Amino acid sequence: MLFWLGFYLFFFLLSTYIGYQKGNLVAGILLGYVLGPVGVICMYFSKDRKHMICQHCHSSIHIQSYFCPQCKTKQLYVA
Ligand SMILES: [Zn+2]
Repeated sequence: MLFWLGFYLFFFLLSTYIGYQKGNLVAGILLGYVLGPVGVICMYFSKDRKHMICQHCHSSIHIQSYFCPQCKTKQLYVA
């Protein structure tokens, strides 16, 4: 019983964390709470609202950054 509780809590926290990282905290909490491990997978493949891919070097950078920290090229935000 305690094992399953810890197991479930682990996925709940993991989903919350992924949600937080992606700027989608509420969805992370809800999916982790309702679906557990499945929610984590859903969150993992969900759209990242906090980061974007640099057009030049393809590294993940913050959505509001003006210059890429990796290759120093100017970023044009395309929604
Ligand atoms: Zn870059």
